[in-house]
Amino acid sequence: VAGVREVRVVQTAEKPERRLIAVGSGKGGVGKSTLSANLAIALHRLGFRVGLVDADVYGPSQPRLMAAEGEKPTAQDKQLNPIPTRWGVPMLSMGQLVAPEKALAWRGPMASGALGQLVDARWGETDTLVVDLPPGTGDVQLSMIQKHRPMGAVIVSTPQDLALIDAARAIDLFNTAGIPIIGIVENMAGYACPHCGEISDPFGSGGAEAEAARLGIPFLGRVPLDIAIRRASDAGEPPAARDDAGAEPFLRIAEQVAA
Ligand code: ADP
Repeated sequence: VAGVREVRVVQTAEKPERRLIAVGSGKGGVGKSTLSANLAIALHRLGFRVGLVDADVYGPSQPRLMAAEGEKPTAQDKQLNPIPTRWGVPMLSMGQLVAPEKALAWRGPMASGALGQLVDARWGETDTLVVDLPPGTGDVQLSMIQKHRPMGAVIVSTPQDLALIDAARAIDLFNTAGIPIIGIVENMAGYACPHCGEISDPFGSGGAEAEAARLGIPFLGRVPLDIAIRRASDAGEPPAARDDAGAEPFLRIAEQVAA
């Protein structure tokens, strides 16, 4: 934690305008995009001026998650204007730059260039940028680390061993580059049966917390496997924006990230 403070001070001195929080995962489908959207909204609710960058070139899902599908950003002086969303968090997505099926064929330098356009857009007063990275440890991650120097990284994993092994690889990438790991989030933990209410653990339980302890990095909390989260996400209504218990896990995680 001492290391995190130190790096933050250096970052502030070099880039006074805003801090970048990279959200990564070892593999796809663990809920990284869902967590990124809801973390951004929860941080906004805590009083930060937050923007969201969807750098997941292989499956940009933020336009749908944030109810901004079909919107195209305009540009001014060759800089993109972020798209306002109804959740108070402006956003930009790889999916708004190019049709996803074309982005799939992008080579590394093109994806890195696109990332630069998103991060160095006209974010104005925004003080915090949450960046939803592609899964794994490819070109976009390297470019993020080398060119944009995030303040830290949040790693999302399911409780399952395989996802955890991949997550450890992602953690290693940031560690090697000297980017502090803000912590691990365990997603899809504990499933409440909608019929009988019994809690079961389809992907195991506590694995990410144990892994965080083993690696000596903070555990930021868990988000349950909940069909309401999937439905709300598909409908472009992020649970973190709700006024009920659905927002709680995300607000708790955001508090930890902001601490
Ligand atoms: P990733 O970005 O890691 O590929 P997504 O955020 O796109 O993963 O999530 C994959 C799918 O799982 C989506 O359909 C999403 O709505 C769903 N999902 C994510 N987290 C949860 C959760 N905690 N409970 C239920 N469904 C979830």
